[in-house]
Amino acid sequence: MNLEERARREKLLEKEAARAAACRKCAIGYTRQNNVYGEGDPCARLVVVGEGPGETEDRLGRPFVGRAGALLDQMLAAIDLPREDVYICNTVKCRPTQTEGTSIRNRPPDPVEMANCRPFLETQIEIIQPEVILALGAPAARCFLGSTFGITKQRGQWFVGPNGVPLMITFHPAYVLRQSGAEITGVKRLVWNDLKLVRDKLATLHAERENVAARVEQASLFDQ
Ligand code: SF4
Repeated sequence: MNLEERARREKLLEKEAARAAACRKCAIGYTRQNNVYGEGDPCARLVVVGEGPGETEDRLGRPFVGRAGALLDQMLAAIDLPREDVYICNTVKCRPTQTEGTSIRNRPPDPVEMANCRPFLETQIEIIQPEVILALGAPAARCFLGSTFGITKQRGQWFVGPNGVPLMITFHPAYVLRQSGAEITGVKRLVWNDLKLVRDKLATLHAERENVAARVEQASLFDQ
């Protein structure tokens, strides 16, 4: 990707992040500390989408930090993708919360919040033009595939995401961290299988692009 195109996308994403920061379409827009728009490579081949910011993300204004973020970094590293080479965001940009007694807890975003925030997510995907989208957890998957999506049965398959981008679903790192004993090994194995599919898809798409470029170059040799 040339520097000019990278700069153009960075500028567009900054502009959108400023629009999201000013947004108060949902009640959670008033209770958040920070708008967590997203971060990463504006020319990323992979966009990772989680459900919504948690407490640490809300405090720092960054997606996937804390324990779940550290596990996501490890998951990406396992398929040779450093965090800085991907783009990471959520279906909603403000932290969904619920009050229990005196404590404020995270909760999944509700369908109205996801619908309200969807244009921000779609614009991110349009600007970045990823080759693959990886959605983490059932709420993120349902944002793309509808309310009937069941993660246990339907993760690990390819779906068609926004703009025709191949979409893979796997478990959210926070879910993996909530497992214990033998279950954690089983869930990690499923996640690893899903990640290998992502890695292989990216490799296949890269090889196809190289083949097309080679054919164009060969053809141009005879145009002179
Ligand atoms: S969740 Fe999205 S749509 Fe709702 S207030 Fe926050 S930025 Fe706006």
